[in-house]
Amino acid sequence: MALILLTDDDGYQSPGLVALYEAMTNLGDVAVFAPDHNWSAAGHTKTMHKPLRAWDGKLPNGAKATITTGAPSDCVAMALLGLLPERPDLVVSGINLGANLGSDLTYSGTVAGAMEAVIGGVTAFSISIETTDSEADFSLAATVAGRLGDLILRMGMPPNTFLNVNVPNLPRQEVRGIQITRLGRRIYRDVLVRRIDPKGRPYYWIGGDVPTGIPEDGTDIGALANGYISVTPIRMDMTDYRFIESLRDWPLSEVLES
Ligand code: MN
Repeated sequence: MALILLTDDDGYQSPGLVALYEAMTNLGDVAVFAPDHNWSAAGHTKTMHKPLRAWDGKLPNGAKATITTGAPSDCVAMALLGLLPERPDLVVSGINLGANLGSDLTYSGTVAGAMEAVIGGVTAFSISIETTDSEADFSLAATVAGRLGDLILRMGMPPNTFLNVNVPNLPRQEVRGIQITRLGRRIYRDVLVRRIDPKGRPYYWIGGDVPTGIPEDGTDIGALANGYISVTPIRMDMTDYRFIESLRDWPLSEVLES
């Protein structure tokens, strides 16, 4: 019987986590380690300067969960470092409310949950739906998660690699298929909003419109824009191998010259 560990950066009360839980129970035993609040855009957090708390709780569907004060990456770390008595066979992070595309991966708490798993040597995938509406229909994304989880358990994955999955917010009959993709280019429209607090001092919000992106064929952004489910294999090795050769032509020794 496989053991599957779930987390979700939207917190333990997220309907996306409940939908994921219900899909994964078909595959084996399911353990949940989830944050006590929303950590969206928390990135790959490692909490080091304050204590972490964890307690037994329940998801909104009544399923047992370990709830923690940590980020989703902390949740996975705590589970793998011994709070979960057995080593899981698979970690799934999601179903996140909102797509995680292109450079979003560096901001995403959802993706960080999968990253922490592969750092710990456990196969993983992250999964997101292209809407932030908590009333959304998660049934297609949940089905995809369950079947993909089954495939991963059967096929295995290379070490230090995970899958990042994005599901369009469309009825099943309007989804055109599933594409293997590379990361696309997000266009962020952030603005710095300056306001004044009651003591007359400025404070700031990073605001602005939701990001768009370049819907190039073959990318995650292109796949969603065309009504496909996107599956992107992601390596933890972020080395730019193509640039290594031209970097060798730089007079790098100059940085050491006195
Ligand atoms: Mn989120």
